[in-house]
Amino acid sequence: MLLGQKRILVTGGAGFLGSHLCHRLLQDGHEVLCVDNFFTGTRRNIEHLLDNRRFELLRHDVTFPLFVEVDEIYNLACPASPVHYQFDPVQTTKTSVLGAINMLGLAKRLKIRILQASTSEVYGDPTVHPQPESYWGHVNPVGLRACYDEGKRCAETLFFDYQRQHQVKIKVARIFNTYGPSMRPDDGRVVSNFICQALKAEDITIFGDGSQTRSFCFVSDLIDGLVRLMESPDEIMGPINIGNPAEFSILELAEKIRVLTGEKSKIIRKPLPSDDPKQRRPEIVEAKKLLGWQPYISLDEGLGRTIPYFESLVGRVRRAAA
Ligand code: NAD
Ligand code: UDP
Repeated sequence: MLLGQKRILVTGGAGFLGSHLCHRLLQDGHEVLCVDNFFTGTRRNIEHLLDNRRFELLRHDVTFPLFVEVDEIYNLACPASPVHYQFDPVQTTKTSVLGAINMLGLAKRLKIRILQASTSEVYGDPTVHPQPESYWGHVNPVGLRACYDEGKRCAETLFFDYQRQHQVKIKVARIFNTYGPSMRPDDGRVVSNFICQALKAEDITIFGDGSQTRSFCFVSDLIDGLVRLMESPDEIMGPINIGNPAEFSILELAEKIRVLTGEKSKIIRKPLPSDDPKQRRPEIVEAKKLLGWQPYISLDEGLGRTIPYFESLVGRVRRAAA
C-alpha cells in the first residue's frame, strides 16, 4: 500500500450516504471495503465503483460478527427513513445495537478508529432549540420511532463505554436531515417524496399543517464533515452535530420544490405521523471550532443538483395546459 493509504470499512456502503462516502474515500486514494445487506441500499448506488481495483463489495448483515482486516471503520449500516426503519422495527434495533457491538468488537481487536453515524433523532421531539450536543433529548421510548431513536441512543452508549472500558478510538457524528442524488425515489423521506411527486404531476403530501421544521444538509457537505471528524485528533470523539443550520418549515420546502421543478402540483394534507418532531436545527459551534467544518451548499443550490437526478430516474409527466 502507498504511504497514507488506508483500507477502510464502510458498513451500509450501498446506501445513500454510504455510497457517497465510498466514492469520496476512493477519490482520496484509499482502499474501501463496502459491507451491506441491501435492505435499503442498491447496487445502482455503487455500480460506478465496481470497476475500481481499490473497491470491494461484501454482502453481509452487521447483526452478525464480521472478521476482516481494515485500518478504519465508518459504521453507517441502518435504514434511515421512517418508512423503512418502521417496516421491521425489531431488525432496526438489532442493526443499531448488535451492529454497533460487532463493529466495536472489530475495532477493539484491530485497535483502530471507528466512526458512528448517529442522528439528530437522539434529540427526539426537542424542547431545546436549536439543539446543542449537550442536550439529552426528549424521546418517547415506546413510540413508533423508538426502534430507530433508542437503537441509535444505545449505540452511542456502547461507543462511549467501549472507549472508557476498552480504549477504542471512537468518533460519534450526529447527522441531521441530509439529501441529494442517490436517494431512493421510494425512500419515503420528505425531499425525495416532494420532488418525485412534483415530477410525476402528483399532489404533494404534507403531513400535518406543514409548520414543523427541518434543516437540510446537502450530501457533499455532510460527507466532508464525516471525513474531517474521522481524521481529527483522537481526543475529538464527539458526539458532534453535522448538519446545515438553515431551518425551513415543511410547507416552505414544498413551495420551494414547486418553484424549482416548475411544476404546479397541488399541496394536500395528510395526518401527521405519531411523535413527528416539531422542530429541528443543529447547533454547529463544535463542528466549526473542532473540525473547521461548516456547510456551504444552500437548500436552493442543493435541490437544483438533486432534481435532475430524480428526473433521470422517474422522468417528468407533462400536465395538459389548463
Ligand atoms: P440508507 O437507508 O440509504 O442506507 C443505509 C444502508 O445500510 C443501506 O445500504 C442498507 O441496505 C444498509 N443496511 C441496513 N441494515 C443493514 C444491516 N443489518 N447490515 C448491513 N447493512 C445494512 O440511509 P442513509 O441515509 O444513507 O443513512 C446512512 C446512515 O446515516 C444511517 O446509519 C442513518 O441512521 C444515518 N443518518 C442518516 C441521515 C440522513 O438524513 N440521510 C440522518 C441521520 C442519520
Ligand atoms: N413529511 C411530509 N410529507 C412527506 C414525507 C414527510 O410532510 O411525504 C414530513 C414528516 O412528517 C416530517 C418531515 O417531513 O415532519 C421530515 O420527514 P422525513 O421522513 O424526511 O424525516 P424525519 O422526520 O426523520 O426528519
